[in-house]
Amino acid sequence: MEIQLDPAVLADKVRDVPDYPKPGVVFKDVTPLLGDHVSFSTAVDWLVTRFGRGTVDKVVGIEARGFILAAPVAYHFGAGFVPARKTGKLPGETVSVTYELEYGHETLELHRDAIAPGERVLIVDDVLATGGTAAATVGLVEQLGGQVVGLGFLIELGFLEGAKRLTHDHVSLLTY
Ligand code: IMP
Repeated sequence: MEIQLDPAVLADKVRDVPDYPKPGVVFKDVTPLLGDHVSFSTAVDWLVTRFGRGTVDKVVGIEARGFILAAPVAYHFGAGFVPARKTGKLPGETVSVTYELEYGHETLELHRDAIAPGERVLIVDDVLATGGTAAATVGLVEQLGGQVVGLGFLIELGFLEGAKRLTHDHVSLLTY
């Protein structure tokens, strides 16, 4: 599958929201992109194409917008979908990791039986910012013995240098 893609077309569907969620932050709002069927399918197809068909056992989506992208990517691969959730949301036995945010900290969890040792795992989220969330998710997958084959994002905020915290290949559709 060869995707003909002009990133500028998708960039037009990402809305800058100043001073959200706090003063001084410009939030990248991807809901217009998700709400446009051509942009949404193009973004999903692009992620699938960059990693190739048939090479992934599980796709981990990071709560919450990562779910929206990871589920159709998993469907394309014929892979399972695994949610990485905020603390206390998963009903079964979990592994968890707590990591620092700019202010405070966050905890992410995976079900302990969600990934088997040796499974090939792709991690998907909407935005790579400081990289703390993505790096923490890599750590969770590896705790379970999963093999991270890559990470895919719609948006990378390059000026925050999150890529420096990633130890595996990653792709980002739009980089700012
Ligand atoms: P990081 O841990 O600093 O890389 O932040 C990444 C996480 O925060 C991802 O799960 C994103 O959903 C969320 N995030 C950070 N900045 C933005 C933004 O500008 N728009 C949407 N989500 C964001």
